[in-house]
Amino acid sequence: MMVKKTVTMLLLAAVLYLPTLHSQKIIAHRGFWKTEGSAQNSVAALMKADSIRAYGSEVDIWISSDGIPVVNHDATVTLNGKQLRVEDTPFETLRKVKLSNGEQLPTVEEYLNAFEKCTHTRLIIEFKSHKVKERETELARKVIDMVHQRGIREKVEYIAFGIHFVQLVRQFDPQAPVYYLNGDMSPAVLSSFGAAGLDYQYNVLFKRPEWVQAAHELGQKVNIWTVNKPEDIQKAIELEVDFITTDEPLLVKELLKKH
Ligand code: MG
Repeated sequence: MMVKKTVTMLLLAAVLYLPTLHSQKIIAHRGFWKTEGSAQNSVAALMKADSIRAYGSEVDIWISSDGIPVVNHDATVTLNGKQLRVEDTPFETLRKVKLSNGEQLPTVEEYLNAFEKCTHTRLIIEFKSHKVKERETELARKVIDMVHQRGIREKVEYIAFGIHFVQLVRQFDPQAPVYYLNGDMSPAVLSSFGAAGLDYQYNVLFKRPEWVQAAHELGQKVNIWTVNKPEDIQKAIELEVDFITTDEPLLVKELLKKH
């Protein structure tokens, strides 16, 4: 009798404990760049994210004026003291830009070459918003084609602030996960666009924790950005989001372990 009771109690404890066991995944924001020899959005940052076995390595992309998809965060780059808009500058000029670790500004093609050598991380591609929709279409078309030609679609996810990109991904790859970043749409509305879920700034999700549950009920996933301080990471963990995007992947790893 006693044994049976103990077994029942243990089973009950296991079931109650289960919801907290779901593993939250870490996405290295612009790669793992806060480390020796790395730089934001560099090839090194991607390889380093892979070496620490981050679930994902995020990267920001644009298209040059002559149609080459390139890696950069800001809308502009600085070359010889001059600010140049990435989308208005030919690739030959963009190529002269050096990252802080000495790498040349990479093309998406080169980034994917490196990514093919990664053994753990997934690539989270952020399409940056351009001035004209046609350029966005050209960028999405080219990059999704590259991903397909390489046979790596299972390892790639997409994110964007613009709902136009969500629609483009749905059009060019109906199966690919695409998340919306802008923080202004409910999970139900995002569902109607076919988004895989939301990827919102922590301020938004801390104010609207009910969106996490609503998204999960709709079968969506929730990503939160960019969470770097221990107290915010803790809150994000307790919020039970699926992915945590951070500049501090090792710290998040440590706090997840403790949790
Ligand atoms: Mg980004």
